[in-house]
Amino acid sequence: MNTNTTDKPHNFIEKIINDDLVNKTVSQIKTRFPPEPNGYLHIGHAKSICINFGLAQDFGGTCNLRFDDTNPVKEDIEYVESIKKDVQWLGFQWDGDIRFTSQYFDQLHDWAVELIKQSKAYVCDLTQEEGRELRGTLKEPGQNSPYRDRSVAENLSLFAKMRAGDFAEGHCSLRAKIAMNSPNIQLRDPVIYRIKHVSHHQTGDTWCIYPSYDFAHGQSDAIEEITHSICTLEFAEHRPLYNWFIENLPVPATPHQYEFSRLNVNYTITSKRKLKLLVDENHVEGWDDPRMPTISGLRRRGFTPESIRTFAKMTGVTKVDGIADVSMLEYAIREDLNENATRAMCVLHPLKVTLTNYPSDKTEILSAAGHPNRDDMGTRSLPFDSELLIDQEDFREAANKKYKRLVIGKRVRLRNAYIIEADEAIKNDQGEIIEVRARIIEDTVGKNPADGIKAKGVIHWVSAKNHVDCDVHLYDRLFTDEAPDAGGKDFLECINPNSLEVVQGCKAEVGLANATEEDYFQFEREGYFKKDEAHSSVDKLVFNRTIGLRDTWDKK
Ligand code: ATP
Ligand code: MG
Repeated sequence: MNTNTTDKPHNFIEKIINDDLVNKTVSQIKTRFPPEPNGYLHIGHAKSICINFGLAQDFGGTCNLRFDDTNPVKEDIEYVESIKKDVQWLGFQWDGDIRFTSQYFDQLHDWAVELIKQSKAYVCDLTQEEGRELRGTLKEPGQNSPYRDRSVAENLSLFAKMRAGDFAEGHCSLRAKIAMNSPNIQLRDPVIYRIKHVSHHQTGDTWCIYPSYDFAHGQSDAIEEITHSICTLEFAEHRPLYNWFIENLPVPATPHQYEFSRLNVNYTITSKRKLKLLVDENHVEGWDDPRMPTISGLRRRGFTPESIRTFAKMTGVTKVDGIADVSMLEYAIREDLNENATRAMCVLHPLKVTLTNYPSDKTEILSAAGHPNRDDMGTRSLPFDSELLIDQEDFREAANKKYKRLVIGKRVRLRNAYIIEADEAIKNDQGEIIEVRARIIEDTVGKNPADGIKAKGVIHWVSAKNHVDCDVHLYDRLFTDEAPDAGGKDFLECINPNSLEVVQGCKAEVGLANATEEDYFQFEREGYFKKDEAHSSVDKLVFNRTIGLRDTWDKK
């Protein structure tokens, strides 16, 4: 058996696991990631995935992927598929088959019957509203339901009728009989089964009663023999209930629940319900809109699995709620892409440059490194000829010394190519510059000029004849407010109206025609980019800007 212990636990959960392995309380750890398939996963879930699968990896255990599908009203198979894809994309593999809580519905039902037989559960005819009123508050104890003392026989018969579909939704529910005066509200006779006349994406119309989250979760952990059931802090209060079910049922194992603080990120929302609203009301293109904090959105934007795993690590595992700075995520992706993205050139706002001393029928194939420090990333071929395109921002008729780009009478180096000197700007009737006439300085590819007059700056370019056309999507943060949904704020009012700028008519180096889903690029001097698979077609490529080269948000 493969079990690892460690001398240096990084956080309190690692310490607990390490102690359990050292003390032989468990021989091998088993964790699970238990999403409800009611939306796409977001960056917060990514953290939970990294923790659960990461612990299993680090300690030589296994991790299950279990869909917590007890609420068929909000769930959909589309979400199941997207979640599987996201987990694998992040670099993790679940143990064996994927699991569904719904696979355990028979067992859960039998355990509910078992509780009734032990006089520990009863059918209650209070409406949800009445039930809530008798529940009490943090300061006031609850009151017993008038149905609490029904006989075992009556409860068994009523529960059978619930199961058979004899009652309308809301007519009654099955509740655990614990203690209405417990200081912990979760223990005040919680509902364990509700009537829902709804088809389920996995079980069809087999069931018209569905277990509550609390009744299903711990028991599913027990069935799967999960050793460490890790969840977010809001479930700490549910832990006594989790344990009560485990203690009162003949479950095959005794899992333990541990809680850590959920990940919140500034300028972002991490609530599936709110993200769904953005999608449903068309504020974004869909769950995978590159501005969304969903895993699928981040993937489409060009974030790497590695950068998300790094970010999850950077934010730590604690019991203290906090808000992580989104610039940490941006830092993680910049670091990764600086190291691993292929270099390329793309001109966003083209301006034609005619080289008057270069033969108009000549094309030279220049070579450039895929990455300045990495030979393993190969070389790129750059066709060079007498008509080039540079960015409009990179030319001025006259400028001071700080402007290290192309100026009439001055020199600039074309990245990976010759030094050129500008002679003249051609304008249209409106006085706009539409072309620059320039000359190459001979024998300056990879060399300084023989006359000793160096170029001060370097600019990017493409051939006007040999390039690929593309559009570029420039993204900014989706919200202008640091805490878009804090303190009752309407997050829809904080949407950044300039979160997407579409730049059409961009010109990229020829190699980008072959860009695939696996490729990450640094467009030199422009930022990090990834091909948008959804928007690209055979006629036109679309690239998403993942992130700029430097953090400029504070300087706006
Ligand atoms: P949401 O509030 O966005 O709907 P959820 O907790 O209801 O999230 P689940 O599908 O139940 O969504 O979550 C699956 C797992 O991911 C749970 O164990 C949950 O604790 C964890 N999780 C959800 N949100 C976060 C977060 N922001 N940070 C860390 N873990 C999270
Ligand atoms: Mg949940």
